[in-house]
Amino acid sequence: MAECIFCQIAAGHKPATIVYQDEHIVAFKDRAPKAAIHLLVIPRKHIRNLNDLQAGDEIILAHLLMKIPQIARENGLLDGYRTITNTGRGGRQEVYHIHFHLLGGGNLPSI
Ligand code: AMP
Repeated sequence: MAECIFCQIAAGHKPATIVYQDEHIVAFKDRAPKAAIHLLVIPRKHIRNLNDLQAGDEIILAHLLMKIPQIARENGLLDGYRTITNTGRGGRQEVYHIHFHLLGGGNLPSI
């Protein structure tokens, strides 16, 4: 999607501090961190959110989720972390390219 900021980051057309990438996913620093460490993990494929998942996306999503422990470890989140994905207006989603927030590195508030 040409106008999607996260597609542009994944394609290397917009700047971001990328901490991990492979064939299917990209992880980069959130530009407005809400925790000492705040990363976003996205699939390269443009999927709007959980409600937009289609048959076949299992492979990408499973890969993304299974990479999170490695990305967390490599970025110093040795004591645990929080993962969040916001879906739609009710979930206060701002960027409509599915992403998993990876937060930690300090005292997070309980939810
Ligand atoms: P959400 O409310 O789940 O859609 O959150 C979107 C997140 O993307 C927010 O935490 C923003 O700070 C972050 N964000 C938006 N644009 C960029 C960007 N160009 N580079 C890094 N993070 C971004």
